[in-house]
Amino acid sequence: MLTAREDGKDNGCIINTAMQITSAPLRISITVNKANHTCSMIQNTGEFNISILSESAPFSIFERFGFSSGRDTDKFAGYNDEFRTANGLRYLAEHANSVISAKVTNTHDYDTHTIFIADVTQAFVLSKEPSVTYQYYFDNIKPKPKMAEKQKKGYICKICGYVYEGDELPEDYICPICKHGAIDFEKL
Ligand code: FE
Repeated sequence: MLTAREDGKDNGCIINTAMQITSAPLRISITVNKANHTCSMIQNTGEFNISILSESAPFSIFERFGFSSGRDTDKFAGYNDEFRTANGLRYLAEHANSVISAKVTNTHDYDTHTIFIADVTQAFVLSKEPSVTYQYYFDNIKPKPKMAEKQKKGYICKICGYVYEGDELPEDYICPICKHGAIDFEKL
């Protein structure tokens, strides 16, 4: 889970790509879909946190941070305000096994996504619970499609379960819920 803060407003989204680049200095990269409000917040402020989700993370976290927009709402409504790193940004204290704070040094624009290169400024471990992989998410966290959805005709988003009702899915179609492209849809 990626978090940012701009003008006193916290926001977060789910990303699937974060990796180490160098170890001295400790430097990482993240790839963020530009449709996420968090992406422009990082562009403007140059700072972000990553909370690495663990296997105990419930689907509600993916729904709240991955499938809804924080542009006009507060995704952290109901969350304890205390859990912040030294940079003042939020992190997930529960259902995450570790936290990384970073400062952006470079950005690269790639059509739908932005790659941020950043220096790590703080990092700590929260638990020994394994991290969620994509496979684990599909097998154990994402709810199975309901009968009503199976009976619909069209295409289902493999990531969030949204159903596009129609005979032909446009090639440039973007899921309105999770912002994944047509490649992540399959025929019902
Ligand atoms: Fe989707």
